[in-house]
Amino acid sequence: MAKRDYYEVLGVEKTASAEEIKKAYRKKAIQFHPDKNPGDKQAEENFKEAAEAYDVLSDPQKRQRYDQFGHAGVGGASQGGGFGGMSMDDIFSQFGDIFGGHFGGFGGFSGFGGGSRGGRRVNRGSDLRVKVKLNLKEIATGVEKKIKVKKYVTCSKCHGSGAEDDHSSKTCETCHGSGVVTRVANTILGQMQTQTTCPTCGGEGKIITKKCSECNGEGIVRDDEVITINIPAGVAEGMQLSMSGKGNAARHGGINGDLLILIEEEPHPELIRDENDILYNLLLSVPQAALGGTVEVPTIDGKAKVKIEPGTQPGKVLRLRNKGLPSVNSYGTGDLLVNVSVYIPETLSASEKEIMNGLENSPNFQPKKSVKEKIFDKFRHMFD
Ligand SMILES: [Zn+2]
Ligand SMILES: [Zn+2]
Repeated sequence: MAKRDYYEVLGVEKTASAEEIKKAYRKKAIQFHPDKNPGDKQAEENFKEAAEAYDVLSDPQKRQRYDQFGHAGVGGASQGGGFGGMSMDDIFSQFGDIFGGHFGGFGGFSGFGGGSRGGRRVNRGSDLRVKVKLNLKEIATGVEKKIKVKKYVTCSKCHGSGAEDDHSSKTCETCHGSGVVTRVANTILGQMQTQTTCPTCGGEGKIITKKCSECNGEGIVRDDEVITINIPAGVAEGMQLSMSGKGNAARHGGINGDLLILIEEEPHPELIRDENDILYNLLLSVPQAALGGTVEVPTIDGKAKVKIEPGTQPGKVLRLRNKGLPSVNSYGTGDLLVNVSVYIPETLSASEKEIMNGLENSPNFQPKKSVKEKIFDKFRHMFD
């Protein structure tokens, strides 16, 4: 069986951008994830196939070779379902890049930090942390938040170079612009070459002769920036999202840090969140529980009518399907669980007492044993 075309596997066009490819893979990875498809061999094959396609198409060089030469260009055999060199562990380690941070969030490549490029050091700005408080309604739908942050931005006068003008910097004479110096040491094993960061320019390859007057040669200034954050539906308290490149700008035109967004959840006055389900405690009066009827319960986005059957017992749980929260990194929506409680009057008037006395020995008002047992069963796990 010949291998399928990688673009076809991910369901993207040949012209797809890196971000589109990443998005498409993320979707497939979630769809065919072994945790979601236990024991499903076909899903596992699809999962591996998508990982392999992404491994090639996410790497510009491999992608180019694949475009030119097909599967042969990327070393993959053109026959069979054999999976070239990528284990499940490899696939999962790729996930940090795909899903970023602590969960299947959003944002671009973040594994780019502080690296060196051709020996010359590239500064990286520090990450910026913000907290975003959301109510249940915002969590249910996802929300766009605009927040103002104080951060380092690139100096507009020198465009980050830190030099006053084009003539205010020169190539470092110690390293001739490479940012590194090579030392040769004589050891018992012979001559050893070691490369270290140039001490004169600190690895930047350039010396500023006249500092920019706006940023004092740093290349960055403090400023306010309004950042638009798209928060996906279904996030929860404590989750952290990241937006690459939206953190602090780096000195001398380096790479921006990331913006890290910590999610906080505003408690709802009546509803309690339990993962993707929402819990509500419905308090009925004795006549309501006995006679039945229709009552209103609060939902995330308004109210819902719930039918109460005559003789409804306290402890009964009514399930309103899909009235919960969507799952943040897979499909499906939670439910609204309405726990029925019955309010027993704490004080009674003389006439109410009379009615109650009349009912006390009425056969229908005698508790049935099965009801008690049912309630006990519900909590039995607490005693085991
Ligand atoms: Zn400047
Ligand atoms: Zn130097």
